[in-house]
Amino acid sequence: YAKTNTRSRHCLYSNKLKNKHSHTVFVENFVRDAIKKDRFLVLYQPQMDLTSGKLHAAEALVRIISPENTLVLPGKFIDIAEETSLIIDIGEIVLKKVCHDIHCWNKKGIHLQICINISAIELAMDNFAEYVIETLNSYNVNPKEVELEITENILVKNLNRTLSNIVKLTDTGIKIAIDDFGTGYSSLSYLNHLPLNTLKLDRSFMQKITSENMQDTIIPAILNVAKGLQLDFIAEGVETPAQHQYLIDQGSCIAQGFYYSRPIEKNQLISFINKYGIK
Ligand code: C2E
Ligand code: MG
Ligand code: MG
Ligand code: MG
Repeated sequence: YAKTNTRSRHCLYSNKLKNKHSHTVFVENFVRDAIKKDRFLVLYQPQMDLTSGKLHAAEALVRIISPENTLVLPGKFIDIAEETSLIIDIGEIVLKKVCHDIHCWNKKGIHLQICINISAIELAMDNFAEYVIETLNSYNVNPKEVELEITENILVKNLNRTLSNIVKLTDTGIKIAIDDFGTGYSSLSYLNHLPLNTLKLDRSFMQKITSENMQDTIIPAILNVAKGLQLDFIAEGVETPAQHQYLIDQGSCIAQGFYYSRPIEKNQLISFINKYGIK
């Protein structure tokens, strides 16, 4: 009996592995195909300056257009793209598309800071900084109008190359934001050693604010950390009037979320800019 039991458990285990493996292969092929057929779309989500009510910046967020013409969200493919290094190709595609869009906006006299998500794997690559700088140059994009969003887990991979890339990038005027702040390996001491510009509070913190509960101890504490380190503070995932009001009550800050706008196409962003203006 014990023997059969072991065998069936073993069998179940390997089935699970097999399923995980075939899912990975499926997504990997899906991404490879999207790369080959140029099926990537970059949307932009406004970040609002709550003091002026104008745009502070916009974040570039990638999607894949499926063969059935639906949009596939990054949550479905970024992890596997990182495991298979396809994230490097995706990063190049996104950077080029964003630079192209910025170049078009600049020609219309629109100058808005654009934030781009960068994976830890890209940031740990040899010559990553040079690649980014050359690409911005080739599209005539001003580095001061670009911010790169990185997460706390960048400090786990190849620290030397990562730090050297960050320094080379910031030397040109490119800004760095820590994304999803408060969820990772938060060691406050590293914040002081990195040339950071912005802290983006993870949206899980905002979710706790409701019209019944307008009290919180963590958000004001992190706001103070940002203030003390002279960093911009962005609240992510603002969805409700209560959450918006909560942030206004905390004093000036920048906010991003469905309450202001979902991620939108580049032409819709122009209408949004025309309506609200750029700070
Ligand atoms: P993120 O950088 O933290 O981006 C914010 C995510 O929250 C986006 O999801 C955005 O659509 C979503 N969001 C914005 N406002 C709200 C809100 O009010 N409520 C809720 N529930 N969600 C909101 P998205 O576009 O699905 O992207 C997910 C993650 O994928 C991003 O999280 C980022 O880590 C990654 N990602 C997106 N684009 C890229 C990219 O081009 N390169 C890399 N390496 N990662 C990317
Ligand atoms: Mg981000
Ligand atoms: Mg985030
Ligand atoms: Mg993120």
